[in-house]
Amino acid sequence: MGADARLVPPGGTIGILGGGQLGRMTAMAAARLGYRCHIYCPEPESPASQVAAATTVASYDDVPALIRFGDAIDVATFEFENIPAGALRAVATRRPVRPGVKALETAQDRIAEKRFFEREGIATAPWRPVLDFPALGPALAHIGAPAVLKTTRQGYDGKGQARLLAGTDAISAWRSVGSKPSIIEGMVDFEREVSAIVARGIDGETDCYDIVENVHLSGILHTTTAPAPIPPQLAEAAKAMARRAVQALELVGVLAVEMFVTRDGQLLANEMAPRPHNSGHWTIDAAVTSQFEQLVRAVCGLPLGDPARTGNAVMTNLIGDEIEAWPELVKEAGARVHLYGKSEARPGRKMGHVTRVDTSR
Ligand code: AMP
Repeated sequence: MGADARLVPPGGTIGILGGGQLGRMTAMAAARLGYRCHIYCPEPESPASQVAAATTVASYDDVPALIRFGDAIDVATFEFENIPAGALRAVATRRPVRPGVKALETAQDRIAEKRFFEREGIATAPWRPVLDFPALGPALAHIGAPAVLKTTRQGYDGKGQARLLAGTDAISAWRSVGSKPSIIEGMVDFEREVSAIVARGIDGETDCYDIVENVHLSGILHTTTAPAPIPPQLAEAAKAMARRAVQALELVGVLAVEMFVTRDGQLLANEMAPRPHNSGHWTIDAAVTSQFEQLVRAVCGLPLGDPARTGNAVMTNLIGDEIEAWPELVKEAGARVHLYGKSEARPGRKMGHVTRVDTSR
């Protein structure tokens, strides 16, 4: 048998669409395994390009630039899901793109995502599409207040969302999400939020990390605790849900599935991301193989690494001016500090994170 044509051996170049911190941490993991990374993003001086071998600064609709990028790499991946699918299609004319367009398109549209969960028998909060303002009243009447209005596209970190409490003025909620096609979702009175991060390799094998608990503040992830303090059967059910999703998407790479645990112990899928996820950053410091290395392994056709947890971990994001705590954090024994190289600390911007690991248990 000849060498597997799908394999990109160490020494090869991974193209990453997107230049944020997820690309940065992927490039760092890739370098450790002997790969080079070539970043493609519209911003000069991105967090990822600071640590990559090459960068193309161009827009995601610049087809000639995307084709040249494809010719310069061996395999491509992406680090955020708001990349136009057309950009992936252009690169895919030259080189394999992993994960592929199917996973991207399903995750970047909340209607497609909810329908996907329904098709796969994965429970979600009750929801209805709200494509225009006249549809909002009947949909709200069906779901009942309190509810959440979320734009179908481009929403992240709680952006593009409005809460509809009993008596809320529907038009102001509609305007506050930008009067864009949306969904309305029943408000979940959750006990906690958890997430599963699962990797799927080129031959279809899957590996799931331990389920973690996430606490959000103002719609932005604040802390992740690994493992989540939930019963083992619930953790197994969450892993099974993530495995089902990753298999159905035929995704090669890493998938994060965010879920609610309801007060009566049910799991409801909230959303998924076909890429490394903020709630998996703890894996850099407290798992045998990080989620970033797992992505590199999957897209290059290597076997997946061991996802075993090596300690109990708490990851805390450094948002906006919280980054100013860095002088104390770098003095703190045992704190693993990660800074993303962003020069401007705007409110709500993810500037870094710190992971504290307890290996004594
Ligand atoms: P999302 O962008 O959908 O992940 O939402 C961001 C955060 O808002 C979630 O992690 C929850 O904390 C909260 N949230 C979103 N949807 C709901 C819901 N249906 N019920 C309760 N809280 C929600």
